[in-house]
Amino acid sequence: LVRALNVTKAFHGNEVLKGIDLDVHEGEVVCLLGPSGSGKTTFLRCVNQLETINGGRIWVDGDLMGYEDKGGRLHRLHDKRIAAQRREIGMVFQRFNLFPHMTAIQNVKEGPVQVKGVGKKESHAAALELLERVGLGDKCDHYPAQLSGGQQQRVAIARALAMRPKLMLFDEPTSALDPELVGEVLAVMRELAQEGMTMLVVTHEMAFAREVADRVVFMDAGVVVESGDPKDVINNPQHERTKSFLSRLH
Ligand code: ATP
Repeated sequence: LVRALNVTKAFHGNEVLKGIDLDVHEGEVVCLLGPSGSGKTTFLRCVNQLETINGGRIWVDGDLMGYEDKGGRLHRLHDKRIAAQRREIGMVFQRFNLFPHMTAIQNVKEGPVQVKGVGKKESHAAALELLERVGLGDKCDHYPAQLSGGQQQRVAIARALAMRPKLMLFDEPTSALDPELVGEVLAVMRELAQEGMTMLVVTHEMAFAREVADRVVFMDAGVVVESGDPKDVINNPQHERTKSFLSRLH
């Protein structure tokens, strides 16, 4: 479902992605691991078109992201086309980014109503179902400030799902949470994975990666150092850089 080929990205001459190749198949959960600054977040943002890549190509569901290929030459797509591509992808950030002046259910139905033109009744019913699915059926009318961090993050997941994405990107979704709230968010993600959602997850939660990921990809300094079965990579890393990163986590 996702294919990235030789993706490069630099900020002011600082090359943060140095030729990333990465595939995510339909229904697969891939966890991106690696030290701070290795380019994981930047890569997710490139997939989602929040950043423009400098080289390489990214396809999502066969669609070349951000560009049209005219005989090997890439032409930037119009903003409207890019917005349409982005709608197929749900993203959950480290910070929950909910609209503070809207209740949980208003947050969840905002996208379908405003962007997709879904009717009020239908979007309300769908939003309610999604909030129930993330265990917050009784918190529909709460504002973000009245919810815990874990609850807010679960609303953020429901909000992303409301757009019926083909792919979900998670950027360290639990790293801003108090430790006791991490589990409830991971549980929702685990369930999503079991339901067959295609997910690309940046995380430092090794237990989650080991149990839920079909594959882990270890990045360092803008390159993929190694990837494979989570148990192999996490329990028996082959590369020095992976070994040293994992040993620092314990
Ligand atoms: P973390 O786990 O800390 O989020 P990461 O692996 O996700 O790390 P990135 O956030 O992708 O790493 O950052 C990679 C590098 O790119 C860092 O050196 C960062 O300072 C730089 N960087 C990221 N975004 C920008 C930006 N908008 N402008 C300039 N430099 C940036």
